[in-house]
Amino acid sequence: MNKPQSWEARADAYSLYGFTDLPSVASRGAVVLTHGEGPYVVDVNGRRYLDANSGLWNMVAGFDHKGLAEAAKAQYDRFPGYHAFFGRLSDQTVMLSEKLVEVSPFERGKVFYTNSGSEANDTMVKMLWFLHASEGKPERRKILTRWNAYHGVTVISASMTGKPYNEVFGLPLPGFIHLTCPHYWRYGTEGETEEQFTARLARELEDTILREGPDTIAGFFAEPVQGAGGVIPPSQGYFQAVLPILRKYGIPMIADEVITGFGRTGNTWGCLTYDFMPDAIISSKNLTAGLFPMGAVILGPDLTDRLQAAIDRIEEFPHGFTASGHPVGCAIALKAIDVVMNEGLAENVKRLAPRLEAGLRAIMDRSDHIGELRGVGFMWALEAVRDKATKTPFDSSLSVSERIANACTDLGLICRPLGQSIVLCPPFILTEAQMDEIFDKLERALKKVFAEVA
Ligand SMILES: *Cc1c(COP(=O)(O)O)cnc(C)c1O
Repeated sequence: MNKPQSWEARADAYSLYGFTDLPSVASRGAVVLTHGEGPYVVDVNGRRYLDANSGLWNMVAGFDHKGLAEAAKAQYDRFPGYHAFFGRLSDQTVMLSEKLVEVSPFERGKVFYTNSGSEANDTMVKMLWFLHASEGKPERRKILTRWNAYHGVTVISASMTGKPYNEVFGLPLPGFIHLTCPHYWRYGTEGETEEQFTARLARELEDTILREGPDTIAGFFAEPVQGAGGVIPPSQGYFQAVLPILRKYGIPMIADEVITGFGRTGNTWGCLTYDFMPDAIISSKNLTAGLFPMGAVILGPDLTDRLQAAIDRIEEFPHGFTASGHPVGCAIALKAIDVVMNEGLAENVKRLAPRLEAGLRAIMDRSDHIGELRGVGFMWALEAVRDKATKTPFDSSLSVSERIANACTDLGLICRPLGQSIVLCPPFILTEAQMDEIFDKLERALKKVFAEVA
């Protein structure tokens, strides 16, 4: 068989695309990339794109950070791979666990490693099931999450994810319960204040717990800001309203900080930005600044003690991945945490977030078809609407957000369509001039597409 000639055709011929709008690829071809420079990526034809999505939220230090690459190379030279089973683990793994607990909001805790955010959520669910059973509550197995939550793609984490696309897999599994998404602009009812909306969601949580039976619930998982669901910050007072209810019924609260961890919201953790204390934190994506596949479960003091007691009873926790706590991943994560926290990246997010918000708000105010700007720190979404006053969306057959993203790509800007919104989550190294490039290209793309569809 003759191989097709172009990179685009070769990609089509042999690669099965995940989470990809196939009509866009069919008409435009895949973008095949060779390398990156700062926040830019470069394709096989030499075209440069400002990646306003940090790859997939994770390349926060850009695409050519020398120190990160050097940390990886040094560790590959020193000790290129190991596991963390049988009481053997690398020095890097020990140091990273110390570091993660130190930078966590917990006064003490323990860390368990995976290869991805999905696996970290699966691991946390298994920990909860195991812990409750060990404490004589084997029926505590149901998991509470929210609609539009994104927790991953493995069987458990996809069941936790609150998106209709998982129906094609016959998911969610039974026992995964989805509560109302805390998006006031979209789900608040006529005449309802934001405060009343939050109170309604808190009542729904308590009603659900009582209906299902408090002793059947294993845990509640929430992203501080829903990310892949469309960049949805919580409604006012949301976590302050739900946490006392969870505490009342002894239900652990897990913060999925895979996106919000390590500076994305302007603080080290999203739970600090929204002022609540979870029982455990799920980390991935930014953890290695995108240079290594790695996830982590960071347990707070209460879950650490209870899980450790459960494990002590059977003398082993029968769980782990071959590459859990991989020395190269841990060395990169140690460096990434240092880079984000001590090389001015977290500072840059804090300093420039108001400028990013203001620029996007100005674009919204000048457009008749951006209904909402929402976000925090360096994560924002602009929601396209046919009618601003009634919040009426465009007909989904128009694929408005895909068109906008494609128009941006044509201008050399990568941003992501999500439902009817456009997501911007630039690398933390972004400069003011690069931010202006985003504003300029985005606004030109919006004007072009709205002129076509409106
Ligand atoms: C991306 C993401 C995950 C899944 O991480 P993978 O590494 O893709 O498995 C889980 N939770 C949140 C909040 C995410 O954004």
